[in-house]
Amino acid sequence: MKSLEQIFEQFHSIATNPKDAFNRYLEEGEKVVGCVPVYTPKEIVHAMGLVPFGAWGADLELAEAKEYFPAFICSIVQSVLELGIRGEYEGMSALIVPSLCDSLKCLGQNWKYAVKDIPFIPMTYPQNRKADFGIDFTVAGYQRVIADLQEATGATFEPEKLKESIKAYNKQNALMREVDALMAQKGVMPTQRSDVYKSAQFMKVEEHSQWLQELIEVLKKQEDAQHDGKKVVTAGILADSSGLLKIFENNQIQVVADDVAAESRQYRIDAPTTDDPLRDLAVKFAEMDHCCVLYDKDKKRADLIVDMVKEKEADGVVVVLTKFCDPDEFDYVMIKRACESADIPHALIEVDRQMKEFQQAQTIMEAFAEML
Ligand code: SF4
Repeated sequence: MKSLEQIFEQFHSIATNPKDAFNRYLEEGEKVVGCVPVYTPKEIVHAMGLVPFGAWGADLELAEAKEYFPAFICSIVQSVLELGIRGEYEGMSALIVPSLCDSLKCLGQNWKYAVKDIPFIPMTYPQNRKADFGIDFTVAGYQRVIADLQEATGATFEPEKLKESIKAYNKQNALMREVDALMAQKGVMPTQRSDVYKSAQFMKVEEHSQWLQELIEVLKKQEDAQHDGKKVVTAGILADSSGLLKIFENNQIQVVADDVAAESRQYRIDAPTTDDPLRDLAVKFAEMDHCCVLYDKDKKRADLIVDMVKEKEADGVVVVLTKFCDPDEFDYVMIKRACESADIPHALIEVDRQMKEFQQAQTIMEAFAEML
């Protein structure tokens, strides 16, 4: 049996070297499809025998992408385009971009002009996703994705295969939820926790699930954490910057739960399993909630964060705000108010994909840790 360190090292190596994983798939003759966040239908890509590969950008200096975007647009979409222009995705069969915020809509249009050799496939989601007409609209969007994938890759779609893919992703969801709870209980460090989530973007679902099972087995044998530091819940779009995670660790802060789009939010909801798998996927999307890019007039996300803090007996909330992300900036006001009325300490850290200096974040977290 592998040791805990060996298992975490596996996750770390994929999370920090996605390009190696990408190249390996190409060498093995696989067709890789880029999946830009959030809620890209990976199940469909998988069911068609293609490899869904996360495209959340990377921490890098932006140069070429600046010709296509104004400066005040989030660095996630800018860095996805930058990677495309630099040829880092060479060999990718297509890139699926969902329509869930204005920045993503611009990305798709710019991609068509800037990266001509990788087809852009739009996934258009409805704002009113829960009503029957919303579910029909989502199904129509998926059908368009299937048709575009067929054209780009020559792959075929069969509903029976989608049923199997949905089961594989539901299984991964369940394992992720179990691992998340165990990592909190056993005091797993923020970098290791982040690697478990991040690596999932670049691995085949079956392989990642296998690793999760190994991790669960070993974690269950560990003593519960005797944690002298502080416990927090994180919230935001992306919280995987190594500089930021080190600051958490230097200040003995453990992440015991998150409401981060790139982390546990991906794994909260399972698709139903009926005889109409495309509709099952649309129902899964309809049941997604508590997210800044999904329409919710009651903004229940703020209450969810407060509930997480109470359930995990956390000491506070750290909002990791991606600069120029309008949807998350709007939600921050609600989160701040909810934390204040529940007497929960909270801190705000702004991040972007070009960040090299973390002094400001360091100062904020040092002061926050002392306050908790
Ligand atoms: S939701 Fe925010 S972070 Fe994500 S692509 Fe849109 S603006 Fe960028």
